[in-house]
Amino acid sequence: MNKGKKIYEGKAKIIYATNDKQLVIQHFKDDATAFNNLKKAKIEGKGVLNNRISEHLLLSLSQCGIKTHLIKRLNMREQLIKKAEIIPVEIIVRNLATGSLTKRLGITEGTILSKPLIEYCYKSDDLGDPLVSIDHIFEFNWADRKEIETINELSLRINDILTGMFKAINIKLVDFKLEFGRAWNKDKDKNEIILADEISPDTCRLWDAKTEKKLDKDRFRKDLGNIIQSYQEVARRLGIMPEETNIKEVNFGKPTSVKFKKK
Ligand code: UDP
Repeated sequence: MNKGKKIYEGKAKIIYATNDKQLVIQHFKDDATAFNNLKKAKIEGKGVLNNRISEHLLLSLSQCGIKTHLIKRLNMREQLIKKAEIIPVEIIVRNLATGSLTKRLGITEGTILSKPLIEYCYKSDDLGDPLVSIDHIFEFNWADRKEIETINELSLRINDILTGMFKAINIKLVDFKLEFGRAWNKDKDKNEIILADEISPDTCRLWDAKTEKKLDKDRFRKDLGNIIQSYQEVARRLGIMPEETNIKEVNFGKPTSVKFKKK
């Protein structure tokens, strides 16, 4: 598989073309951003851990019948994935109230929701990924009714599977973000909805079940320190502390640079 030119660079990942039109390479960077790009840092080793954690979670989901974009992990920072047309809607699944939900609606932090709550955000950095209703999605043709039905069903199944996986290692899956895309299914000769992007401590809130210690990107957002150590802890509990991650080689230190942009 030949790595071609860069097709897209996002905040935490880069996508490269390959010599196969249906496949691309997803590269995990060490860059971290929060608050709509206002806070930035390079966290050495984060890309390696997210690559490995996301690979493990997506493989586990595909073993449960969820179709994902992942073909295989290529190396410490890269995965070979199916090219998909990303639906410009982020799906947020929440089990406990925290983050923007508590701020927006004044809900008490940590409230256990009676059932998983799904929210939709329009994927736009310029607009700060605003919360949208299901009717916005249809009105602006971001996805059709059948696609949203599939996406909702998949999101709830993913939540069930991941909640169980994390519970087994004493971690509460508080909330997370999913992205879906349309990819070509050769056998069916049509596009189908598949899970895309990544699932990692960058995109989930993960709390230690006993102490409620945060083991996710909130450590960066809230300046709690020990970011990499927490991501490593998640990998360790999942039983996948990457064998090829030579800790001496990859400097798991403090963020090397934290910049705040003026508003
Ligand atoms: N999330 C994400 N990317 C985003 C927005 C949210 O991965 O652009 C994840 C976030 O890590 C959390 C969940 O989605 O696990 C819900 O985030 P929330 O809406 O509370 O946003 P925040 O408080 O981070 O602004």
